[in-house]
Amino acid sequence: MSSSLRRPKLGQHFLRDPRYVRKIVDALSVQPEDLLIEIGPGRGEITRILASKVHALTAIEIDPSLAALLRQEFHGNPKIEIFEGDILKADLGEICERHKREHCYVFGNLPYYITSPILHRLFAARAHIRHMTVLVQREVAERITSEPGLRNYGYLSVLAQCFSQPHIVFEIPPGAFAPPPEVYSALVDCRMVSRFPRWNDPSCTAFLSFARICFAQKRKNLLNNLLATYPQRQARQALEESGLKTNIRAEQLTLEQLANLFERLRLYNL
Ligand code: SAM
Repeated sequence: MSSSLRRPKLGQHFLRDPRYVRKIVDALSVQPEDLLIEIGPGRGEITRILASKVHALTAIEIDPSLAALLRQEFHGNPKIEIFEGDILKADLGEICERHKREHCYVFGNLPYYITSPILHRLFAARAHIRHMTVLVQREVAERITSEPGLRNYGYLSVLAQCFSQPHIVFEIPPGAFAPPPEVYSALVDCRMVSRFPRWNDPSCTAFLSFARICFAQKRKNLLNNLLATYPQRQARQALEESGLKTNIRAEQLTLEQLANLFERLRLYNL
């Protein structure tokens, strides 16, 4: 029985169409001097070609049988390091330090069952990432890149767009994978750049907590979501001073409007 059938929980949908493998590799803006970290190399279809593009590649694979296969295949290749483990526990800063790099380039055909936790972890490790390109479900790609007012705009859009400039590069049909997933996939490219460079790290973290409050309950308007945390008078005053109606929904606000509201409420509570 194949590994994919034995371990469906690990999100093992292997990219088997070589045209898409090539298209993905060509879409990466990776430089030879980059330390490339690949999440979930699987059977190494993409790893093999990626390895020819950089001087150093660390591939993190949780499945012991696949990790063993990859170690065997890349045995004697000093450029490639196979790290058997969980990306949700990996310390990207430590990997960079070991390779004497400040940053790395992250690529992954992400296991869909933990896409969101992986993205949260990667954005939390943003100080060590110069660029990332990930293959995710199309619906997640739309959430990452969505603009205010659109159906998919929410906390994930704020998180991604606060720290990067994400865009969808192209989509991939289920038939390109074995076994095929139920949905289309999309390659998302994220150039890491802070939308609010004036903020330090604690401010960014506080803003993300604020954004979580704003988007906590999608069916409620922004004011009602704010009332779970802030006194009525403050919440109303902040909206009014920001020129926002009290019945506005969080998904209608640009990142700058959310940031403005956050800074006002923070001032009241100093
Ligand atoms: N890169 C391969 C490809 O494109 O054909 C495989 C991609 S497959 C969608 C996801 C891979 O992530 C699988 O090899 C799976 O075993 C691995 N994986 C699943 N959970 C993981 C985790 N928590 N940490 C690291 N790798 C994981």
